[in-house]
Amino acid sequence: MRSWNELKACAQNGHFPRKKLLVGCDFDGTLAPFTPKPHQAKLPKEIRKLLERLARQKEIQVAVISGRQLKDVEKKVGLDRVIYCGNHGLEIKIKKQVWIHSQAAESAEVIQALSKRIKRGLHKFSGAELENKHLSLSLHYRRVRKKSDVKNLEIFLKKEMAPYNGRLRIVHGKKLFDVRPQIDWDKGDAILHLIKQLGASWKACFIGDDTTDEEAFSTLDRKALSIRVGPTKSTRAQFLVHNRGYVEQFLKLLVQRYDKQKHLSKSKKTVRVLRKT
Ligand SMILES: [Mg+2]
Repeated sequence: MRSWNELKACAQNGHFPRKKLLVGCDFDGTLAPFTPKPHQAKLPKEIRKLLERLARQKEIQVAVISGRQLKDVEKKVGLDRVIYCGNHGLEIKIKKQVWIHSQAAESAEVIQALSKRIKRGLHKFSGAELENKHLSLSLHYRRVRKKSDVKNLEIFLKKEMAPYNGRLRIVHGKKLFDVRPQIDWDKGDAILHLIKQLGASWKACFIGDDTTDEEAFSTLDRKALSIRVGPTKSTRAQFLVHNRGYVEQFLKLLVQRYDKQKHLSKSKKTVRVLRKT
C-alpha cells in the first residue's frame, strides 16, 4: 500500500497510463462529503468542474460508481458524458442504455418483500433510516446514538431476512447495513465490465472510501489502479490517501496531464500542417 506522494509521483512521472483511462469514482465520502442524512449529500462545485473537464477529454471516460440507486446518483452528479453505476454496479447506464445484472433483476421482488417487513418494525429504532434502492436496501444508522442499539438493529435485520436465507447477503458499510442479492458482483466487476465495453486499450482506476469498496479493490487486484480514501490502516487498494482533499488533487493532476497531452498532440499536428505547406 503506497501513499499520496507515491501516487502523485506516479501520475507526474509517466508511470501512469498515458492513454485511454477510465476514471471510476465512488460518490459518498469520495467525491461528496458524508452527511448526517443520505439525501443531503451534494457534489462540491470544484469536484463537479474537474469531472466535467475530464469527461470532455476524448481519452478519458468518467464513471461514478455508487451504492445509491442509479437514478439517484445520476441526479446527484448530473453531468453528461459520464457513465453512471448504481447499486454497487448492479445497474449501469452508458449513454441512454441501462444494463441491469440479470440475477439482481430476479431478486428485486425479494428485496421489496424484505423492505415491507423492515418498515413494519423500524419504529423501534430511533434514528435508523431505510433506503429502498429497488435492487438492494441500505439500513442507515448514522443517527443511531448507542452502540447497543446498532447491535439490536443488526439482530432485527437478520431476523427479518431469515425467510430469504441464501438469497440475500449483508455487507457492512459506513454507518449502514447493505442488503444485496447473493451475487458475486461488486464495483470492481462493474469496472471490468466497463473496460470490456470500452475495449482492451483502456486502463482503469478506481477510487473509493468505504469498507464495502474493499471488495472492489480485491476484485480489481492488479487489473486497475486502486485508491482508498480515508483514515484506515489496512486496505487492499494499491494507494491510500487520508481524505477527500487528495481526491480533488488527484483529479486536478489528471486534468493537467491530459490537457498537456492534448496540447502536445495539437502542436504535433500543427507542425505536420506547417511541413506540408
Ligand atoms: Mg463511499
